[in-house]
Amino acid sequence: MQKMETQAVVIGGGVTGTSVLRDLAMRGISAVLFERGNICEGTSGHFHGLLHSGARYVVKDPPTAEECILENRILRRIAPDAIEDTGGFFVVLDDSDEEYLPKFLEGCAKVGIPTEVLSASEALREEPKLSPAVRQAVAVPDGSVDSWILCMGNVKSAREYGARVFIYTPVTEILREGDRVIGVKAMDQTSGEEYIVYAQYVINATGPWTHKVARLAGVDVPMVLSKGTMVVLDGRPVKRAINRCRYPSDGDIIVPVGTAIVLGTTSVNIDDPDNFIVEEWEVYKVLDECINMVPVIEDMGIQRYYASVRPLYEPPAEGGEEPEEGREVSRAFYILDHEELDGVSGFITITGGKLTTCRLMAEKTVDLVCAKLGIEAACRTHLEPLPTEP
Ligand SMILES: Cc1cc2nc3c(=O)[nH]c(=O)nc-3n(C[C@H](O)[C@H](O)[C@H](O)COP(=O)(O)OP(=O)(O)OC[C@H]3O[C@@H](n4cnc5c(N)ncnc54)[C@H](O)[C@@H]3O)c2cc1C
Repeated sequence: MQKMETQAVVIGGGVTGTSVLRDLAMRGISAVLFERGNICEGTSGHFHGLLHSGARYVVKDPPTAEECILENRILRRIAPDAIEDTGGFFVVLDDSDEEYLPKFLEGCAKVGIPTEVLSASEALREEPKLSPAVRQAVAVPDGSVDSWILCMGNVKSAREYGARVFIYTPVTEILREGDRVIGVKAMDQTSGEEYIVYAQYVINATGPWTHKVARLAGVDVPMVLSKGTMVVLDGRPVKRAINRCRYPSDGDIIVPVGTAIVLGTTSVNIDDPDNFIVEEWEVYKVLDECINMVPVIEDMGIQRYYASVRPLYEPPAEGGEEPEEGREVSRAFYILDHEELDGVSGFITITGGKLTTCRLMAEKTVDLVCAKLGIEAACRTHLEPLPTEP
């Protein structure tokens, strides 16, 4: 059994946890991260690959859209190796897309997302494999992002600033002394070594496992777990990320990733992040919707399909209202100060959000940790590029 002391423990090695670790370390706070599997093994390693411009959320959720465009610009600057600047199109195919278009353009303008409206012939000249039914397309600064490069860049940077990372080492207990969390117990799955780490703050960044880990501290976090399925096809018939110009729905995004395109997604509520499967109807739903945008997809070979789970926080409904479901639950991120919410100090949860907003999520979390610990140190993660060779 090894015993350690540190200022902060981060649980979870996805984009959220590794971003938090980097920010803590850069502000001079000693920190240790525990990941139960490998880095980027959860939702972060099985997402869709889109660096959001925010355009997808401008009508439904303008604050998230604004966070996305600001962070899109920062990530391009600090993590150029993780990003391919594909650009994106929102395509208008039918009357209902045409009805959505003015709201969409107004929403983009309000949060500062630059747009360029193209006629059908201009759109087809740029992307000849689009459906001939295309009526208009709107160009936005979407991109393609590699989550592994991003996570490993965070880890390397955090280590350079003195942080420690343990993989294949799940946190098995969260230690409490009365109403205060004082550390964690973790077990290395390969060596069998046990760790007890005493910390002033424990940060739960476990994505779809948030509620399970919070329970180790005796705290309830209400989550909606929304599974999304993606289909990978060999080849890149389009240069840009192609989105359907409509209220977010199933199968309306195609993202070029490496030598392939990734189609997605669905949204199906599940109970257990450790027990879910891709259903056949999901694969066909995604294919059918994307064929409407890019018909040649019908003739392309499926390389594989996969699914992952959106960690969506559901704040307790007010005044007896029914809780929201799946796509209706906000994509905003939430920092839960369990001292304020549950009377348990020394414990914070960061959950929800997008991969695109991971750096901002970390900044706000570490701001709170600094305030709690009485540390004055400004965030610098937006200024310093990630190391290039993980
Ligand atoms: C289908 C789908 C498509 C998406 N597409 C996009 C997109 O295109 N663009 C975008 O910006 N966002 C996208 N997102 C959102 C984005 O992927 C997630 O918001 C983000 O990856 C969540 O990261 P995380 O670090 O919070 O969670 P995770 O990546 O799941 O990390 C949590 C980690 O905690 C670990 N863990 C769990 N329990 C323990 C324990 N007891 N001890 C130690 N470790 C533990 C897990 O192993 C896991 O690695 C998508 C999400 C889904 C589901």
